[in-house]
Amino acid sequence: MRITKKNSPNKYNGRRGWKPDMIVCHITEGSYNGAVSWLCNPKSQASAHYVVAKDGRVTQLVDLKDGAWCNGTSTKPSSKVYYGKSSLKAVRDRRTNANYYTISIEHEGFWKENKGKLTEAQKAATIELIKHIRDEVKRIFEVEIPANRAHIVGHYEVNPITKPHCPGENFQFDEIIKAVSGSNSTPTNTNDFKVGDTVTVKRSATKYATGQRIANFVKGSKYKIKQLGADKALLSGINSWVKLSDLEGEGGTRNIIKVGSKVKITGSKYATGQKIPGWVKNRTHEVSRIAGEKVLLGANGGINSWLNKNDIKIIK
Ligand SMILES: [Zn+2]
Repeated sequence: MRITKKNSPNKYNGRRGWKPDMIVCHITEGSYNGAVSWLCNPKSQASAHYVVAKDGRVTQLVDLKDGAWCNGTSTKPSSKVYYGKSSLKAVRDRRTNANYYTISIEHEGFWKENKGKLTEAQKAATIELIKHIRDEVKRIFEVEIPANRAHIVGHYEVNPITKPHCPGENFQFDEIIKAVSGSNSTPTNTNDFKVGDTVTVKRSATKYATGQRIANFVKGSKYKIKQLGADKALLSGINSWVKLSDLEGEGGTRNIIKVGSKVKITGSKYATGQKIPGWVKNRTHEVSRIAGEKVLLGANGGINSWLNKNDIKIIK
């Protein structure tokens, strides 16, 4: 997925020995640009790992290896943010600052508008983002974040006294968790298209990303990608946004690497930089996991090694 990166100075370097296993959802109470700029301003003494806009854009402000300053808890019983006041058992049991073991996502919006209900584009982006976070946390920390309500939580559960309305009563936790747990890997469509690529609108497509009906002459026709969103592409010629799932690349869908794809190795080194022996290159491998630009090859007795996507080719 497409993530813009900015660096906020408001963070811990590292996580004081903790590994993240909880994703905390927030509402910005402000605009997307306003939140991104405020959370990067040293005066705010606040940050988040990610901010998701109403239109689905995503900016990352803090590296996952570092703790953001977003939903801290205090060890002082007199504090309003004392960990003992949390409604989450894990937060109470860990007796430390929740910023050490959480990943925070801010969502553009105001609670008074619709009580935290995300727009469709925002919800779709958050689903993709959480899948991406789970893949990254697995890769970096070897931690599997369970897709359930104990691990994908709201700020109001961490700090019930100070943040009872963050992200809000209408935030779509259940829908998001259902979508996240429905697949154990990031769909790769979002990584496979670039601006300038020629794509074909699938014949099965019915509506543009904006909801309008796609005319028949557009289906099956080729267009160049002018601009990319998290889950959609602006096509030149028709000048319309089409969902990535409704597009096919130059070589058709067979070029898209998926979990289960059979591949050969074309490169000479693993993602770790180690040299790949000849016998490994001669074999056919199966993709067992995808994380960003890397793929894990060989499930069930295979080589079980990470390779860069550029160093493999699909054979069927
Ligand atoms: Zn919050």
